[in-house]
Amino acid sequence: MQGLNDNYVSLQGREIGECIYCGKREVPLGTEHAVPYGLNGPWTLLRASCGVCAKITSRFEHGPMRHLWPDVRNALAMQSRRRDKRSTTLPMVVQRDGVRETIQVPRTKFPTYLPTPLFPPPAVTWANRPVRGVFTNLDVMHVCGPTFAEASKEYPGYDFFGMHINFSAEDFVRMLAKIGFCAAVATVGIGAFTNTPIRKVILGTDQCIGHWVGSWWQEPVNGTNGGLHEIRIVLSEPGKEIHAIIRLFAQFGAPEYHVMLGPADPTYVASSAWPAQWAKTHLIKQ
Ligand SMILES: [Zn+2]
Repeated sequence: MQGLNDNYVSLQGREIGECIYCGKREVPLGTEHAVPYGLNGPWTLLRASCGVCAKITSRFEHGPMRHLWPDVRNALAMQSRRRDKRSTTLPMVVQRDGVRETIQVPRTKFPTYLPTPLFPPPAVTWANRPVRGVFTNLDVMHVCGPTFAEASKEYPGYDFFGMHINFSAEDFVRMLAKIGFCAAVATVGIGAFTNTPIRKVILGTDQCIGHWVGSWWQEPVNGTNGGLHEIRIVLSEPGKEIHAIIRLFAQFGAPEYHVMLGPADPTYVASSAWPAQWAKTHLIKQ
């Protein structure tokens, strides 16, 4: 099995001094992980979220952690705040003579697949009007352990192998929105985001989440050889629209996602706080 890589740590530890979601300053502010801690996310923002907003984000991150990726997190021994509860076996769904049952398989012999939700591109790039919710498809990628075909040889008589997946696409999309926003704040500074649509997606007040978040279907922006996860913050002109291209599990060749963060505040762009050198080299064509 491949070890897990850490990657590009330029986002580490930027101090913000206000809640990046609601703007409150005069409250206790906590550390915000861009990619959740439970996915070995290395990037943090310091003093960046109030208790109320942190509760909202941890609620929607719970879904992908516990329902979409629990097996892959366990098989790859990813970090957990509940490490003592990690089990040494994992549940596999099998079927024999039309009857389905769940058997427990030792972690090292478990056919480990990464479920990867796929979406249309953010609808703002192709639709006239926002639509509620998000459309999703689910793909799976083999990550480690035997394949289902190999595992089936160990269990003669069974004619179906699979796994239970029951996840909320909405939680997943809001997690992507949060990852993209955190990474963008770390890269260009909070001052650029006076009017971003993404805060409402994250806080749950905009139901048209597929308008702003989706899959990235163009040439890959992030490589597969560096970190476990890869994120690039890029611009499209005119208007300096900010985009986050996120590749969770990049190391395993997983697909990329696209978060639209809207145009940077023009006053901020004109100020010395705007990273002009960076902005010159991170342009994409849309
Ligand atoms: Zn807040």
